[in-house]
Amino acid sequence: MDFIPHVIDGLETESAGGGRFASVDPWTRKEWAEVALGGKDDADRAITAARRAFDEGPWPRMGYAERGAILHRLADLIDERGDELAMADTVDMGKPFADTRGHDVPRSALNFRFFADHAKLAAGEALPMDSGHHAYTRFEPTGVVAAIAPWNFPLMMETWKVAPALAWGNTVVLKPAEDTPYSATILARLALEAGMPPGVLNVVHGFGPDSAGQALTEDPRVDRITFTGESGTGRIISRAAAANLTPVSLELGGKGANLVFADADLQVAVDWSIKAIFSNAGQVCLAGSRLYVQREVYDEFLRRFTAAADALVMGDPKVAGTQVGPLASEEHYKKVRSFVEGIGADGGTIHTGGLGEGWSVRPTIVTGAPADARVCREEIFGPVVVVHPFDTEAEAVAAANDTPYGLNAMLFTENLSRAHRVAAALKAGTVWANCFFIRDLRAPFGGVGDSGVGREGGTFSREFFTEPKAVVMAIAREG
Ligand code: NAD
Repeated sequence: MDFIPHVIDGLETESAGGGRFASVDPWTRKEWAEVALGGKDDADRAITAARRAFDEGPWPRMGYAERGAILHRLADLIDERGDELAMADTVDMGKPFADTRGHDVPRSALNFRFFADHAKLAAGEALPMDSGHHAYTRFEPTGVVAAIAPWNFPLMMETWKVAPALAWGNTVVLKPAEDTPYSATILARLALEAGMPPGVLNVVHGFGPDSAGQALTEDPRVDRITFTGESGTGRIISRAAAANLTPVSLELGGKGANLVFADADLQVAVDWSIKAIFSNAGQVCLAGSRLYVQREVYDEFLRRFTAAADALVMGDPKVAGTQVGPLASEEHYKKVRSFVEGIGADGGTIHTGGLGEGWSVRPTIVTGAPADARVCREEIFGPVVVVHPFDTEAEAVAAANDTPYGLNAMLFTENLSRAHRVAAALKAGTVWANCFFIRDLRAPFGGVGDSGVGREGGTFSREFFTEPKAVVMAIAREG
């Protein structure tokens, strides 16, 4: 059986205590690898290595161009080794290979290229002052960054955190999710191959509570914590970080609303709405899991939407042509199953879909569920969407905003004024009009309410991963 080690201070290593845990392929439902089970000792070793690499090593002292060249080499290696990286995530969590290879891997390479270039090209800030002084801002690296990642876009979410942290001169300890360890170990190997000094990017495997994750959030030698995962976990991490006053960036859960107005291009709305909820078997924080359709087009939309959902190809994620794979783990399958089984009792109707083979759930469309049903309020993180009719724009906006979450929302209309008006009224970190999931890495990314704290992306990542320092200089002294 394969073994997936930690990578600490440039070395592949077992856990201090020798413990291991299994990584399970959710399609075969069999263990395919053993993973080093990191605990407090391993987190400690990794933080020590990252601390030394930051305090004494060349990485934070290099110029942006030199660091950038290494990050670009890493991006090239990610592309070259794309099949291996994509298959690692596919085997670990069941996402179709077409998606990991076609989307997640290229996006991961782009994360490194973008943030390397962004750091190199970012302009500073000079503030001429009336008093014969001059102020400017230095954006200095913060130190050691702990990056704690989820399992739904493993490599992509990890690189979204690691790339800006490194580009701005920090060193990193990355803890991937326990269900998806493999691509992170490959990434750390590639970073060394690209010329990154040992200790700059460390990977520790393990769980959250009482494990490597918790240890990273409680260590005062960590200068920043960037976390993506469930809102409940975000609260726990926020509390742990508060004890050391460590700044946190939290990208959390969602319950995305998707508004289809009668004046929309209906086929465009159907196509994007399918992607918004059934891509990655709905295991997407940004999923459009609450669909509101204006009554005049409700029946026609539902007819086309149902036909498209029923036509999605389910099966082995390693096989070309599969569009919907299994859910990522048995534990997660059981959670999604409990939502599906509760739909009837909550007053909803399964219009199409339901449970599938093994740990799969079929693309499931729910109608008639009251607004306070669990399926309408809680993040399911599976291929389950609730559809409601609405009459007026005001009613749709109010329904969309009636959630503790606020990560993103979508709207479909051909009316330009309505698009701007509704985009402004929606309570969300990102609004997509007539599209979904399109990203510009300069744009802020994050959520309001239970969906997160802070923003990352472009200059927002610079704010978080640097300590801006003001330097004030007298420039007009008498000679
Ligand atoms: P999770 O919160 O269970 O775990 C995320 C990571 O945190 C894992 O690495 C886990 O080991 C670690 N962890 C768990 N408890 C911890 C603790 N007490 N201390 C330190 N680390 C701990 O989330 P998940 O199930 O892996 O991911 C799914 C969730 O992530 C969903 O809610 C989804 O919406 C969210 N998500 C959000 C975004 C976003 O950008 N906002 C993106 C992807 C996923």
